[in-house]
Amino acid sequence: MTNDCLFCRIVAGEIPATVVHETDETLAFRDIGPKAPVHVLVIPKAHHADVAELAAADPALAGTLLAACAAVAAGEGLKEDGYRVIFNVGAHSGQEVFHVHAHVLGGRPLGPMVSA
Ligand code: AMP
Ligand code: ZN
Repeated sequence: MTNDCLFCRIVAGEIPATVVHETDETLAFRDIGPKAPVHVLVIPKAHHADVAELAAADPALAGTLLAACAAVAAGEGLKEDGYRVIFNVGAHSGQEVFHVHAHVLGGRPLGPMVSA
């Protein structure tokens, strides 16, 4: 738990979130500013700043996080038509919250992977 981390505070129940999936090690909740009909953030409950730090510190948990993303996608009905999983890392990606999170996006064709 990092007191000044927004997503640690969501894990702790100090800030409300619309939770759609939870395991002992992961939490998934709806993004507050959805960019697609389905936009869910999937996080490990343990604090790691980004996916590179997570993979280095705890590769098993990184795999568990990916499995949670797949479970969320299935639960949101995205399996048949497909979806996108995005990890932003660092400045060029526009990462704003430095607690690793996967964006699971779907519910319509998502267009090009990045804008020009
Ligand atoms: P990123 O730019 O990859 O760091 O993404 C951060 C995401 O967190 C953005 O898509 C925000 O809309 C989302 N976000 C910020 N605050 C909250 C919150 N309190 N609950 C849910 N999503 C949030
Ligand atoms: Zn955190």
